[in-house]
Amino acid sequence: KMFSLEPPEDHRICVCVRKRPLNERETIMKDLDIITIPSHNVVMVHESKQKVDLTRYLENQTFCFDHAFDDTASNELVYQFTARPLVESIFRKGMATCFAYGQTGSGKTHTMGGAFSGKAQDCSKGMYALVAQDVFLLLRNAAYEKLELKVYGTFFEIYGGKVYDLLNWKRKLQVLEDGNQQVQVVGLQELEVSCVEDVLNLVEVGNSCRTSGQTSVNAHSSRSHAVFQLILKSGGKLHGKFSLVDLAGNERGADTAKATRKRQLEGAEINKSLLALKECIRALGKNKSHTPFRASKLTQVLRDSFIGQNSSTCMIATISPGMTSCENTLNTLRYANRVK
Ligand code: ADP
Ligand code: MG
Repeated sequence: KMFSLEPPEDHRICVCVRKRPLNERETIMKDLDIITIPSHNVVMVHESKQKVDLTRYLENQTFCFDHAFDDTASNELVYQFTARPLVESIFRKGMATCFAYGQTGSGKTHTMGGAFSGKAQDCSKGMYALVAQDVFLLLRNAAYEKLELKVYGTFFEIYGGKVYDLLNWKRKLQVLEDGNQQVQVVGLQELEVSCVEDVLNLVEVGNSCRTSGQTSVNAHSSRSHAVFQLILKSGGKLHGKFSLVDLAGNERGADTAKATRKRQLEGAEINKSLLALKECIRALGKNKSHTPFRASKLTQVLRDSFIGQNSSTCMIATISPGMTSCENTLNTLRYANRVK
């Protein structure tokens, strides 16, 4: 396999949109698919303001991205155009990050592959497994073999501004910043992995920890950011890092009057972190001094992946196709449009 998909130097952020198929519930409810992908990088939202004739599109909005994937695209295909071009950079001391951003239920976890161990459902392999696959492939590349790199995995969750280690029974961890603004998550488990199988086991452990004690998988996980990292070390020192972030749902449901206090606080915290993330991505590689890393735990923890000349990022904005999700979908597309 040849790796020739390195992003050009001036292109540190790649923003893509992925539409999922209508699900069973939406189909039964006769929800209408209002999203079309007329070409490889265009997304159209057909927003019908009048319900007179649902088959007639009365208003269109068009958005342009680096890539747009329709509901037939596989994880593998999405990977080829998003995370894969960044993999080799971590062997050259780079910091790569891939975000899944979108409304709850739009396909973030499906894309990242957090829901699957990858064993039983190979076709559903997500970004975690696909990145790992290529990392281990490159590790055996003669050019990198002499670096004697070791690979470590971490998996943690950020909820309500606090960090929890998913590889250590959700132990609550402190984040410290030293005088040189080096950020450290104290006590975070870094487990050595030596093959894709190891990584999948690690993801499985983290996922079971993420959802334990929850009646519904999405109830809690949709309110937290999950960060999975593959870290390369040479002689015990950090060499490069790939972070894959399954962001909390961006819907604004918690604003309503009947939302509980807890939900409102959760919503406010998520909003704050997603806003900070937008600013940090926009400042990527521009050496801006006022980048608000400290505005949220998410951006603080990812600080070292935003600074430096060798940082690159991709965002996969996931959208639901239905008319009932229209407002959330437009919010997602506008956000994605702002970071590119
Ligand atoms: P999120 O993590 O954004 O809340 P999920 O990844 O859990 O959403 O997806 C919600 C549901 O939709 C899951 O049952 C998932 O399997 C399904 N789904 C999401 N994206 C796709 C897709 N591209 N193709 C088929 N099913 C999908
Ligand atoms: Mg999810």
